[in-house]
Amino acid sequence: MLGKAGLRALPSVDRLLGMAEGAGVTDRFGHAEVSAALRQVLAAIRAEAPEPLPEPAAILARAGALLEARDRSGLRPLFNLTGTVLHTNLGRALLAEAAVEAATAAMRDAVALEFDLDTGKRGERDDHLRELLRELTGAEDATVVNNNAAAVLIALNTLGEGREAIVSRGELIEIGGAFRMPDIMARAGVRLVEVGTTNRTHPKDYKAALHPETGLVLKVHTSNYRIEGFTSEVGGAALAAIAHEAGVPMLNDLGSGTLIDLSPYGMAREPTVREAVEEGADLVTFSGDKLLGGPQAGFIVGRRELIEAINRNPMKRALRVDKIRLAALEATLKLYRDPQRLAERLPTLRLLSRPQAEIEAQARRILPALAGLLPPGVAVEAMPCHSQIGSGALPLDTLPSFGLRLAAPGGRALEALAAALRDLPRPVIGRLRDGALVLDLRCLTDEAGFLSNLAKLPSSHGAV
Ligand SMILES: *Cc1c(COP(=O)(O)O)cnc(C)c1O
Repeated sequence: MLGKAGLRALPSVDRLLGMAEGAGVTDRFGHAEVSAALRQVLAAIRAEAPEPLPEPAAILARAGALLEARDRSGLRPLFNLTGTVLHTNLGRALLAEAAVEAATAAMRDAVALEFDLDTGKRGERDDHLRELLRELTGAEDATVVNNNAAAVLIALNTLGEGREAIVSRGELIEIGGAFRMPDIMARAGVRLVEVGTTNRTHPKDYKAALHPETGLVLKVHTSNYRIEGFTSEVGGAALAAIAHEAGVPMLNDLGSGTLIDLSPYGMAREPTVREAVEEGADLVTFSGDKLLGGPQAGFIVGRRELIEAINRNPMKRALRVDKIRLAALEATLKLYRDPQRLAERLPTLRLLSRPQAEIEAQARRILPALAGLLPPGVAVEAMPCHSQIGSGALPLDTLPSFGLRLAAPGGRALEALAAALRDLPRPVIGRLRDGALVLDLRCLTDEAGFLSNLAKLPSSHGAV
């Protein structure tokens, strides 16, 4: 242990700050930050009292590393190799280049958000998307709010506050987090009237529940689960007819919603928003960042007077979206005008429709380089796997994919490997399965970046 006298040999903060070696760090983080970090490092060295004392350059480097670590953003880009393309916890859809550019331009400059460039008078922020949404869905009118949960909340509140909403017991879903249909209804001020049973609901169940207190009939896409076997549900068209006969509107929450038929891209056929509108739903709600492939948003399309009523609801102001997202949404929706090139331009569709053979070729290509970068003791092999769409879209539909299976000697070693991958400058997130870490390569686009990032792995870590 070094005595008090020895510690006196430590350089002062001022001397360290004056050294040429510190110029880079000071440039990057500023004088105040570097001084504070140096004080912290010097205090730690005094407590550790190492012998010999570290050189001044080493002290500066330690302060630099401290600042570097503190500066790393938790929101920095990562490699999503979980196999779930629309991963809610990893931010769902990746935006198209056109959307990124539009959002960036709108961030930097003033835009005619609520200003009519033709008349020079006040405009409406919904005007930027209204025509596009009408064109793409066939609906009379449209509005957009913060996310689909908000769309459902404001639609329920507008149509049914203080009144009843009839919904099938088979559709009282929980989407995840705190989004449970019965809770949203309560917050919207709507009284829930459940009809039918978990597996079967018939037209007569809805009809028997209709009465003068009914505000609306609700249909909810059972996004993240499916009931199979002895089941029956009332389809959108039949339900709309039942509602209209009683003079009440029908709201269809499509959840993910898709603007196009996805079956040509190798996915199961899902009803499109246009079809839901054609079936007679008075309002249809769907997400911006699920299958649609845009930023987080909730769309409400449908009958004009109902959309107008939603726009008059004071909640609208609290749930509205900003210019950045509107710009990105507009650019995303415009891509749908050219379906032939959609898969090329929209990352969500491009990733979901990537052929397994292409992913397999990629896995085999990077396997040798990867094997050389992994810590000793970690074995890696290429293997087929299955990707998921995610975000509750087509829950039972998996996509044949290919990945790399990393096996470490023992559970602790595997955990350490997963942690080391998460700690990289660009974190790599895989999926732990059957005692191995599987990296599904479906969403790997930047192959060179992936390998140079892995080169920064510490060559061994603890238990491995
Ligand atoms: C995902 C989903 C929601 C919530 O949408 P967000 O855009 O995540 O707010 C609501 N209803 C259904 C049926 C869903 O699938």
